Amino acid sequence: MASQDGSDISPVFEAQRSAYVHVPFCRRRCFYCDFPVSVTGDRRHGGNFSPVDRYVDSLCQEIQTWSGQGKMGLETVFFGGGTPSLLTVGQVEKILRAIDGVFGIVPGAEISIEVDPGTFDRDKIAGYIGSGVNRFSLGVQAFQDELLQVCGRSHSVAEIHSAIEILNAVGADNFSIDLMSGLPYQTPQQWQESLSKAVAIAPAHISVYDTIVEPKTPFARYYEPGVFPLPDDDTSAEFYRQTQKVLTTAGYEHYEISNYAKPGFQCRHNRVYWHNRSYYGFGMGATSYVNGQRFSRPRTTTKYAQWVETFVANNGKINCEVVTERDRLLETLMLGLRLAEGVSLDAIASEFGQETVDTILEILQPYIEKEWVKMIPERNAIRLSDPEGFLYSNAVLSSLFADG
Ligand code: SF4
Repeated sequence: MASQDGSDISPVFEAQRSAYVHVPFCRRRCFYCDFPVSVTGDRRHGGNFSPVDRYVDSLCQEIQTWSGQGKMGLETVFFGGGTPSLLTVGQVEKILRAIDGVFGIVPGAEISIEVDPGTFDRDKIAGYIGSGVNRFSLGVQAFQDELLQVCGRSHSVAEIHSAIEILNAVGADNFSIDLMSGLPYQTPQQWQESLSKAVAIAPAHISVYDTIVEPKTPFARYYEPGVFPLPDDDTSAEFYRQTQKVLTTAGYEHYEISNYAKPGFQCRHNRVYWHNRSYYGFGMGATSYVNGQRFSRPRTTTKYAQWVETFVANNGKINCEVVTERDRLLETLMLGLRLAEGVSLDAIASEFGQETVDTILEILQPYIEKEWVKMIPERNAIRLSDPEGFLYSNAVLSSLFADG
């Protein structure tokens, strides 16, 4: 591997225990989405569609080109997208075989896949389980057809219920559902209804994302943040507080700003990101963070396929961006403060020095006084309070970024 300035850097691979696999295909593009995706149209079983097959070939070639580093044994693998459930069982098996062959997947590893309603049946989910998948993340977003249409989602509420029936019927009991708050025209009553339905379904895990108007998306053309039909800031804040109250009352731990889990069901893969630990990333648009170096792949399928050819021809040599110490510190704080367990000041001191800890505490003092930031003396850690600190995390983090 070579650094950005071209000097050789020896890769160190022993720390990576996680891999992200990007599956970029979606039946259509949702109106709020700016992820790297390739639109397939309405092909429920995208595997018969040759671009998907070609992509899986490129992906496996990329994975195999990382061989020779030794089998460290992965503890988590995450198929994200895109809509990974457009893959056939055979394609998922092929990718997992490639990963296991190169890195090894330890027994008991968490293997997650994102699935969308209307893209799978019982056989597919049973087949995924047979190939080793043991956690499912279902993209629900809303329980109202009119809101799904406003978002440009390709499924209906009836398909959400069928999807849940399928997951329950095949014993896929470790599943998560994604919901979105602050959608255009969404009323507090609709949000309460979505939360109640989620609680009634009783998944192991619930992720709740506030709507973000990303540049260059249809949402950015149609809407302005904070202006009707989007909720104003006070209503968004109320949605957040309502979510925290309903889900924690229902027995979910609010373990991360946007994530809730029944005890024992936190997402192990995502915790690797929030702890700013290393991971492999494979596939179009995916980023790896290996040995303090970040590398992002091209964001179109054609350019990704060309990149894989070059990567193979160069025997796995790539130019990585070396993450500076300051960026590593800010990322560690930004990601760690998303977690309810917060950030250990002892860990910060041992990596970045006690002086850095003193500066952080000085910057955060106004927020400690407001009780948005809390000290946890028994662990010498800091965390954001729930819900107010989580709600205003951007203000807290901006101060760290401005002064840190
Ligand atoms: S299904 Fe997910 S990845 Fe695909 S377009 Fe919609 S939001 Fe984006």
